[in-house]
Formats: sequence, structure tokens, C-alpha cells
Amino acid sequence: MNLRTYKTASERRTIVEEISKTKLPHIGNFSFSEDAAGNKNCENMIGGIQVPIGVAGPITITNSTETYESYIPLATTEGALVASVNRGAKAVTQCKGVRVVAEKVGITRAPVFKASSVFEAQKLIVFINENFKKLKELSEKTSSHLTLLEIKPFTAGRNVHLRFKFDTQDAMGMNMATIAVSNTISFIEDETNTTCIALSGNMCVDKKPNFLNFIEGRGFRVSADILISENVIKETLKTDATKILEVYNSKIISGSLLSGSIGANAHFSNILAAIFLATGQDIAHVSESSMGITTIERSQNDIYISIMLPDLPIGIVGGGTNLETQKEALSIMNLENTQNIQQFAEIIGGAVLAGELSLLSSLAQNSLACAHKTLGRGEKI
Ligand code: NAP
Repeated sequence: MNLRTYKTASERRTIVEEISKTKLPHIGNFSFSEDAAGNKNCENMIGGIQVPIGVAGPITITNSTETYESYIPLATTEGALVASVNRGAKAVTQCKGVRVVAEKVGITRAPVFKASSVFEAQKLIVFINENFKKLKELSEKTSSHLTLLEIKPFTAGRNVHLRFKFDTQDAMGMNMATIAVSNTISFIEDETNTTCIALSGNMCVDKKPNFLNFIEGRGFRVSADILISENVIKETLKTDATKILEVYNSKIISGSLLSGSIGANAHFSNILAAIFLATGQDIAHVSESSMGITTIERSQNDIYISIMLPDLPIGIVGGGTNLETQKEALSIMNLENTQNIQQFAEIIGGAVLAGELSLLSSLAQNSLACAHKTLGRGEKI
């Protein structure tokens, strides 16, 4: 049965219902444009999956020029997650807000070429350096919103991986980067004695946790920090600095080292997955973006907490951000059509810090299991 031969989601859904001897009334009940989603986001579309969306905040954020407040849309089925981020956002806001630096690193695509020997591999690298201007011209021809920033070569024997890095303005940019790189391949092959083996040679590195992105950055690199006062630790987080430090040292330092984690954090992935899902990001990017570091230091009875996200591929145009519900979620942060991708990165940084602060406090307070019983299972305690 080739579902592609059917024209509408309804026709395909009927076939799937017949084959699987089931009914799919909820999957069939969706409000986004079938034309747009079916043509740009999902082949063989039969409907939509609904995920509950909650809002945490407001959270106060300070960047290098201004302080502002935002709410945080979170799509999740994990009871207690929104409440946890909400508590973290409250604590942060009570302490005058989180400071955030969001640096746009750029999106990367890295084809792999095969040369006949290490000598020819070296010649390819020289060629790339000498012809950067021409490669920039070829790649930038494919989009009016794309700038080639760098091509960084890596070799393994006669394999040459060329890591192209682009500024793609307000889009996450993976389609744009892929199309731009593909426009340079035949020029490189024709002018050098090499063959492109694959348009993506796993040095991009797309959708996999890896040390290259961790060190070099990808998309945005975001750092955020704040000093949480003793009073807020006591009144809002219901614990104290000693207990939080103890959890930090044993869990984040010892546990992350022992498990060989890339980075050391409590649950970046939880907040990232929920924001990505709500706002139409590519959810598979959580695999790379959830690498990162949380630090905590004691300052008398206050605590200093920071987070660093080295690899945050995000967009506010293109991809899934064009779907109606995802656009609405972006509008909760006043990001739709504002072209303020920088602000989106800052809000994500603040939300991730709030999530780290709240979970570590909950573990220090020994209330995690209780919160999941009441909020995750709806049990009365
Ligand atoms: P896209 O929707 O394919 O492209 C973005 C489009 O938005 C471009 O056509 C661009 O215009 C246009 N645009 C309008 N205003 C813009 C602005 N202010 N800034 C930037 N672009 C603007 O999205 P994408 O971000 O390149 O790719 C995201 C999609 O790629 C996601 O769906 C993701 O799942 C998928 N993805 C693809 C790959 C891959 O290998 N291809 C890998 C991972 C993920 P012009 O270019 O016409 O100027």
C-alpha cells in the first residue's frame, strides 16, 4: 500500500484505520494547515498529535543592553515540569533576573571528500583556503538570508571533512546550509582530484551529542548566571545553600564524571524538549543541545548558579515554526515576526537556568518524588 498515492490526510487516515482495524478521531482533529504541513513538514500526513502546553513565568532576563520579562511556553506530558520551571523562574525574578549572553555561532554542514592520498587531501585544503571567495559566492547564491562565515577542514587519512559554517539570520538554517553546500560540491570536485562521498560526513555535527559542537559551538552558544539570595532559597526554594551545594557536588560533578556525560547538568533536555516542541524547533536537535554545564558556587548563605549551552540550533522562521500552533507559542514570547532570534536564545538560556535551579533545590529539599506523585500522577498525599 503506497500512501503517497492518496491526496489528503483524511484519505490516508481512512486507509490506515482499515489496515490497523482502529479509529483515529483525535489524530484526525487538527487545526494547522494541511497543505502547508503536508507539503513542507511531514510526508504521508494523516493528521496531528496533540501535546499539552503550559506556561511558566514570568522570568526576568537581563542582556547587555536591557532587562525584560517573558513567559515560557512548554509542551510536555511530564507532570511537574512546568511547575518546576515556574518555581525556578519565580526565584530568579525575585533576585532581579538572570543575566544572559547569547552568542550566534552559526549553523554547520560538513560534507566529506575522498582524495587519492594524504598529499591530495592536503592539496584540497589549500584549494579551499585559496578559493574561499568563490565558495562564498556559490553558496550565498542559494539564499538571500545566508552568509558563509568559515570552512574548517578536518582530515582522517585521505578523508577530508569540510565544516561549512553559516549565518542564516532568523532561521535555524539546516535546509539552507545543506542547499548552499550542495551548490559548491561540483566546483570542488571539478577543480580538485577528489570525490564528495557524502553531503553530510558527521562532522556537522547534526543531531548527535558530540565534543566538536561542545567545544566549537553550533547555532547559539548561551551563558546565563545569577546570585540567589538566602531568603529566596529559604522562602521559594524551601531549602538552604549547604544542601544545594551537596546535591550539586554529588550529582552534577561526581555523577556526571562517573557516567562519562558530555558536560554536566541536571536536566537541560527537559526544558529544551518542551520549548522546542512548543515552538516548532526540530525536536531531534535536543540530542546535541542538551549537552552543557551547570556550575554552582556558595557565596556565604547565597548561591551563585550558571548554565552554559554550547550548541543551540534554533529558529523563529522556517521549518516547524510556520505551523499555526507553534507560531502562537512563539507569540507568547512576542517573537513571531519580530526577527528577534537573539531574544529567543536568551529566553531559552533563562528557562534552562530556572529549570536547573528548581530541580537541584527539589532534590536538596527531598521533594522530587512527592512532586511527581502529586503533579505527575495526580495522587493526593
Ligand atoms: P527552511 O524553512 O527550509 O528555510 C528558511 C526559509 O525562510 C528560507 O527560504 C529563507 O529565505 C526564508 N526566510 C525568510 N525570512 C527569513 C529570515 N529573516 N531569516 C532567515 N530566513 C528567512 O528552514 P531552515 O531553517 O533552513 O531549515 C529548518 C528545517 O530543516 C527544519 O524543518 C528541520 O527539521 C530541517 N532539517 C533539515 C536538515 C537537512 O539536512 N536538510 C537537517 C536537519 C533539519 P531564502 O533562503 O529564500 O532567502
